[in-house]
Amino acid sequence: MGVKKAFAAKFIAAPGKALELAKLDPRDDSAFEDKEKAKVQLLADAEAIDRLQDRLFAEGKRALLVVLQGIDCSGKDGTVRAVFNCCGPLGVAVKSFKVPSEEERAHDYLWRVHHGCPPRGIIGIFNRSHYEDVLVVKVEKFAAPEAIERRYEEINQFEKLISNAGTKILKFMLHISKEEQAVRLQERVDDAAKHWKFKPSDLETRAKWDQYQAAYEVAVTRCSTDVAPWHVIPSDRNWARNAAVARIVRETLEEMNPQYPKPDGWDPRTVKVA
Ligand code: AMP
Ligand code: MG
Repeated sequence: MGVKKAFAAKFIAAPGKALELAKLDPRDDSAFEDKEKAKVQLLADAEAIDRLQDRLFAEGKRALLVVLQGIDCSGKDGTVRAVFNCCGPLGVAVKSFKVPSEEERAHDYLWRVHHGCPPRGIIGIFNRSHYEDVLVVKVEKFAAPEAIERRYEEINQFEKLISNAGTKILKFMLHISKEEQAVRLQERVDDAAKHWKFKPSDLETRAKWDQYQAAYEVAVTRCSTDVAPWHVIPSDRNWARNAAVARIVRETLEEMNPQYPKPDGWDPRTVKVA
C-alpha cells in the first residue's frame, strides 16, 4: 500500500469484516496533529478538489460518486459545504434522498437512485442514498424482512454495475455519539434559524438509536467492497470530519488522475487568433 492510500486506510471498513460501531470513538481525531493544521489542510484539499474536478469535467470519461450517510445531525450538509466549497457548480451535482414520492414508490427502490447517479465528468454527491432502503426501511419495517435481506447483495451488484461503467464510488458513514446528537438536536430547537431542520419525529428516530446503529453495522459490513468501500468517519468534531472526507476525496481524484483532452482536429502551434 502506497503512502497515498495510508490516509483512507485509517477509516475504511475492511470488506468482509464485521463492523462494531461501539468500538469506534466518534471523537477520535488522531488522524490529525491538531485542529488548526487540519483546517489548513482542509482548505488546501478543497482547492485541490476543485482543480481535479475541472480535469474530470474536461476529460468527460468518468464520474465520482460520494455517498454520505449518517443519522440526523451527523453533519451531512456541513460536509458537502466544507469539502466542495471551492468547486464551481458546473461539475458538481448534489442529490438528496427524502421519503420516496408516490412515483418513486411505484418503481423498484434503486430506480430513483440510478437516475440520480452522476454522468461522466461529474462529481455526484448523495445526501442520504439507497442505503436508506436498508436503514430506515429496516428499522421502521417499511418492507418485508426477506426483501430487505436481498437488498445488500442487490446493492453490491448495482454498485458494481455503475463502477464498471466508469463511476468511482466512495461511501462515508458519519459516525456521531448519542450525546453529541442530543446537543445538536437541542440547538435546532433553540435556534430559530435552525427550526426548519427539526421535526418532532426526529425524537422518535433518536429513541431507536440502538436499532439504527445495528442497521448501520449490517449495511456497512455487507456492502463495503473493493469497488465501493465504506469509510467510517468519526464526526463528533466537525473539523476532523471535514478534513478526513476532503483528504480521502482528494486522494481518490488524484489516483483517478483525470487528463485534459488533446485538441481534436487542430494544432495549437498553427492556430493564431487574429
Ligand atoms: P432529512 O435528510 O433530514 O431531510 O430527512 C429525510 C428523511 O427521508 C429521513 O428521515 C430519511 O430517513 C427519509 N428517507 C430517505 N430515504 C427513504 C426511503 N427510501 N424510505 C423511507 N424514508 C426515507
Ligand atoms: Mg432531518
